[in-house]
This record gives sequence, structure tokens and C-alpha cells, in this order.
Amino acid sequence: MRVGFIGLGAIGEPMAARLAAVHEVAVWNRTGAKAQAFAELHDRARAATSPRDVAAGADAVVTCLPTSAEVEALLDGPDGLLAGMAEGTLLVDCTSGDPATSRRIAERLRERQIGFVDAPVSGGPPLAKTGQLTVMCGGSDVDVAQASAVVAPFAARVVRLGPVGAGHAMKAVNNALLAVNILAVGEGMVALAKAGIAPRDAIEVLNASSGRSFVTETLVPERVLTGTWPRLFRLALLEKDVGIAHDVTDDVGTDDPVLAFVREQYRRLRGDLGEEADYMDPIAAAERAAGVELRG
Ligand code: NDP
Repeated sequence: MRVGFIGLGAIGEPMAARLAAVHEVAVWNRTGAKAQAFAELHDRARAATSPRDVAAGADAVVTCLPTSAEVEALLDGPDGLLAGMAEGTLLVDCTSGDPATSRRIAERLRERQIGFVDAPVSGGPPLAKTGQLTVMCGGSDVDVAQASAVVAPFAARVVRLGPVGAGHAMKAVNNALLAVNILAVGEGMVALAKAGIAPRDAIEVLNASSGRSFVTETLVPERVLTGTWPRLFRLALLEKDVGIAHDVTDDVGTDDPVLAFVREQYRRLRGDLGEEADYMDPIAAAERAAGVELRG
């Protein structure tokens, strides 16, 4: 298969590396040096000069950008994706994007007989490296079947959730629940530490009890108790996901007082902690505010 890939970020780079292990891959990245370095590292990869060049001769193009707005912005112009993609090919958008923009993109591609699947992923850079991501797809049965073959090198599980936009809706709600949990665990853990309970004991009891979650079982033990704080997923991107989840509830007309509140908290945190902050940094901020460290 010949695949184009756009967006060599924290998760895009290991996804592209899995593709380049088995397919001919053309990569394009806004900062061109990253694409050059990638091509030097992977025999089957070449650095493309533009989105159009990425798409030239490709059976499918995979995008992994911060938001759907950046994907949409790459479509047009003489060097845009639409200038390079051929009829019968497919755009697989692994961005954690928004359903409305993706429906618009899909419509424009359909006019040219090009398929579109929104295919956001979960698992983070570590599972991207080992090819074990979960891919949440929105699109027609035929397009999703085609997309499954494209994402296979980095995916352990590919699920079709519905028409275009369904993958983004699923991913946004998942991440909104993660966001709620990070804030709640941070608040609970610093309170327990202030009350004199050792953080390791608190985590062990939570993980044997009904308050446990991915945050308490994996993120806190591996990153907070050890004090390693790896930078794997920007807080700004999680804030974007909570916003998309809120828009999804708005769109279907259901109430979301908790998510709406959490969205405001993340907007504030993004402003306070900055664009490069990691999504676990709210727990560090809770530590600082309480004057405790959750180590042990
Ligand atoms: P990063 O911020 O690490 O990388 C973003 C990528 O997008 C870079 O390649 C960047 O290029 C490129 N980019 C940014 N703005 C533009 C633009 N205007 N035009 C063209 N390219 C642009 O993000 P991640 O890799 O972490 O995330 C990518 C997507 O995957 C997001 O939607 C995120 O929510 C999602 N995701 C991330 C996970 C993670 O753990 N990191 C897990 C699951 C999903 P440049 O190198 O020039 O900056």
C-alpha cells in the first residue's frame, strides 16, 4: 500500500513509524525538518514537499493534527490535499477532531469520489509505538473497511461507531471523562495527603475499591508517585476534547452540567499552565496549591 501521512506530533510520529515499517509512506509536517529526519530514519519513507505531494500516488492519506480546523485548512490551494488526492482514494483523519467540521470535509471529498473516515485513536504514544491503539471510526461501511486496512499497523482494535462524526463524538466523550477524573483524583489525593494518609497507601486502597479508574490504576502510580511526569499529551488538546464533548451534548440536546463545569476548569487551566503543559499538570497544580507532594 502507498500511504501519505501528515502530522508528525507526539502521537503522529510513532503511528507513521508503524506504517513505514510495512508500507511506502510519504510524510509531510508543518515543520519540515521533522519530515526530513523521519525519512532519514525509515527506509520506506520519503519527505513530501506539500500536502499535495503527500497525496500524489497514495492509496490513502492519514492526518493527525491538533484539531479538525487544521485538517480542513490543508484541503485547498495549489499545494493542498485536494489537488493531490485521486478519485477512489481515502482520507483517514486520526485527529481527535469535531463531528461538524468532519461532516463538511467528508462532503467536499465525496464530490470528488474520495472517501473520508474520522478515526481518532486512544492509547497514547506508548501504544502507538507497539501498534496497539484503539481506533474509533465514523464513516460508511465500505470506507471504514478500507480504513481498517490502512490503520492496521498501529491498531489493535478498530470499531465502526456510525456515520462520519461518530468517531470524534466517541473520542471526545471518552476524553471528557478522563478530564473529569484527573481533576477529581487530584483533589481527592491532595486532601488525603493533607489528612496524613500516605499517597501510595491511598492509591492502593482506591485501586482495590470502587473509586478506581485508569487515572488511579495507571497514570498516578506511573507518573505522579514516581515523580517522572512524562510530557506525552498536551493539556491544550485535552481542553479541546472537553469542548468538543460539550458541543456534542449541545448538538443532541442533552444536559451536561458536570462537563460544562469541567470545561470551564480546563479553559482556566490551559490559560494558567500554557500551551505546552501536560494533561497531568493539573495534579501538579493541585499539589502546589495544597503544599503537598504525592510521591511514594
Ligand atoms: P502535537 O501537538 O504533539 O503535534 C501536533 C502536530 O500537528 C505536529 O506535527 C504539528 O506540526 C502539526 N500542526 C500543528 N498545527 C498545524 C497547522 N496549522 N498546520 C499543519 N500542521 C500543524 O499533537 P499530538 O500528536 O499529541 O496530537 C495530535 C492529535 O492526536 C490531536 O488531535 C490529539 O488530541 C490526538 N491524540 C493525542 C494523543 C497523545 O497522547 N498525544 C492520544 C490520542 C489522541 P509542527 O511539528 O510543525 O508543530
